[in-house]
Amino acid sequence: MEAPVNLLGLPPRELEAWVLSMGSQPFRARQLQHWLYKRGVERFEDMTDLARDFRAQLAEHANVRLPEIVLARQSADGTRKWLLRADASQAFEMVFIPEAERGTLCISSQVGCVLDCSFCATAQQGFNRNLSTAEIVGQVWLAARELEREQRERAAAAAGAESAAAVREERQVTNVVLMGMGEPLANFRNVVPALGILLDDFGFDLSRRRVTLSTSGLVPQIYKLAQESNVALAVSLHAPDDALRNELVPINRKHPIAELLQACWHYLDEQNGRSVTFEYVMLDGVNDSPAQARAVARLLKGHPAKVNLIPFNPFPGTHYRRSPAPVIQRFRDELLQRGLLATIRRTRGEDIAAACGQLAGRVIDRTTVRLGSKVIGVAVQP
Ligand code: SAH
Repeated sequence: MEAPVNLLGLPPRELEAWVLSMGSQPFRARQLQHWLYKRGVERFEDMTDLARDFRAQLAEHANVRLPEIVLARQSADGTRKWLLRADASQAFEMVFIPEAERGTLCISSQVGCVLDCSFCATAQQGFNRNLSTAEIVGQVWLAARELEREQRERAAAAAGAESAAAVREERQVTNVVLMGMGEPLANFRNVVPALGILLDDFGFDLSRRRVTLSTSGLVPQIYKLAQESNVALAVSLHAPDDALRNELVPINRKHPIAELLQACWHYLDEQNGRSVTFEYVMLDGVNDSPAQARAVARLLKGHPAKVNLIPFNPFPGTHYRRSPAPVIQRFRDELLQRGLLATIRRTRGEDIAAACGQLAGRVIDRTTVRLGSKVIGVAVQP
């Protein structure tokens, strides 16, 4: 017998083709999408407006397979982190960051990463595998379900007695950023269809400005992305010159800064985008001097660019330290004075290792919880 088809993550056209192959009408695909993504229903028997015999066919030939949640943690600041199982011994993470007017879900695109950025925890575990389209959209699906469940439980427990501060927080996923584990553009084949489902009217129906893909700078794939998607682009710059960027973001040796920036401006032109966000991790004594800020300003001046300064988040085994707050502020001011938009990212979820660059996918097997690099063994690169 054929293996059942996982309907989650099937691009709309493929879902329609599958429905047709079952001898059903194309509009059934839209109904399925509505149940799956809008209503968050995974069981076919609960999809009540589908004909009974179609539901029987679905039960026989299809399923909805979601990643399994192995651990959920909540930070004192409200940030949630979930550890999800990919396979028996592999795990990846997603993080939800509630703010006053938006709820941002940070999702992973790979288990591990090949890029080996010197200041990133994921790099330490080496590369394991690409996540499938279903595993990528499955993160958004699961987060929405978990947040909804929390809301229901809270409402039942407190019946309106919540503190005013808590009420002001957005508790739904309004924004998605591909800034978790992995390099999304190195998993282009699975990531692009996932972006499609995030934006599709019958999918999660998010606006293109609320979905951001962050890349370390895979230049050819940025050009390709410009043809196939139109989400917001963020780029990990982290240094104003090639010598330093070669050290921090080694892919720079292949695609240096000048080439990378060309690709960014091309992306904006093609996509009629507003601006590219440049991420810049603040490493004490490494890339945080006022002269380096002025050099960043020279690179980006006159272009639609925003700079997001990320205070470095330490993790076990790193030799880097976070730049002191006044140094970060001075860096921002140097940029602002030169007419660039610059912000400092608020650090969230530090107490549960959910902050940027700390996602290491602690691997779970039935008996142990250990750090990925120790368990994965064969998959770890030296
Ligand atoms: N591979 C993608 C997504 C990575 S994570 C990319 O490189 O853009 C998102 C951001 O967090 C990137 O800018 C990354 O460089 C940054 N980051 C990685 N480790 C960090 C750390 N320890 N502290 C702060 N930011 C970090």
